[in-house]
Amino acid sequence: MGRITLDKVRKAFGDVEVIPPLDLRIEDGEFVVFVGPSGCGKSTLLRLIAGLEDVTDGEIRIDGTDATRLSPSKRGLAMVFQSYALYPHMSVRKNIAFPLKMAGLSQDQIDAKVNAAAKVLNLDSYLDRRPGQLSGGQRQRVAIGRAIVREPSAFLFDEPLSNLDAALRVGMRLEISELHKRLATTMVYVTHDQVEAMTMADKIVVLNAGRIEQVGSPLDLYRAPRNVFVAGFIGSPK
Ligand code: ADP
Ligand code: MG
Repeated sequence: MGRITLDKVRKAFGDVEVIPPLDLRIEDGEFVVFVGPSGCGKSTLLRLIAGLEDVTDGEIRIDGTDATRLSPSKRGLAMVFQSYALYPHMSVRKNIAFPLKMAGLSQDQIDAKVNAAAKVLNLDSYLDRRPGQLSGGQRQRVAIGRAIVREPSAFLFDEPLSNLDAALRVGMRLEISELHKRLATTMVYVTHDQVEAMTMADKIVVLNAGRIEQVGSPLDLYRAPRNVFVAGFIGSPK
């Protein structure tokens, strides 16, 4: 589960076309990174997949089902927001439990899922704290925990590490890659950071002004960048 296909997906805000018609295949279990300069449409593309924006034209399929007109909660995906999207007045436990409460699960079911997520993320001993009493990295783990409990078929990350300092960012990169190995769930990860893309991705999608310049493994892009934009962005010799 976690196969996502975009077929001639186009997005315009008013008469400004931000994403010209675009095709993309994301395979089950893949770690896909959307990379490109600020303003190139990475967040918009992710939000279209999440259902937080409506496509102007085209079709989005998730695990073979037409999801183009489904509301975000019906798509079986979980968006991981930056850690500052946590509820500051709620404990870590309540923050992680929040989507499950909204979904109407019993308290026993909620406790079991929250405890399991806390274990995976090494948050067991922090469940009663509030976000303000955690480090940046721990807060980011809570944000991921809130996604994990929903057992999504894919995780969508939008620059989740951009407000962490450099050292912490390296650690969290490794943690997210490790989590991907452990869960074997599709992850779509947006960043403007080439190093993040090259070190984390199975497949990189290089975007430029809403267009896909190239799709390939980090090694493909490094060895055979299709054009000067990709070469320049990936930092490879051409
Ligand atoms: P990125 O995430 O790569 O920095 P975005 O997807 O946020 O880029 O934005 C791509 C383009 O779409 C930008 O020119 C931005 O100004 C425009 N845009 C994004 N959201 C909206 C919106 N809700 N209304 C109008 N324009 C938007
Ligand atoms: Mg963005």
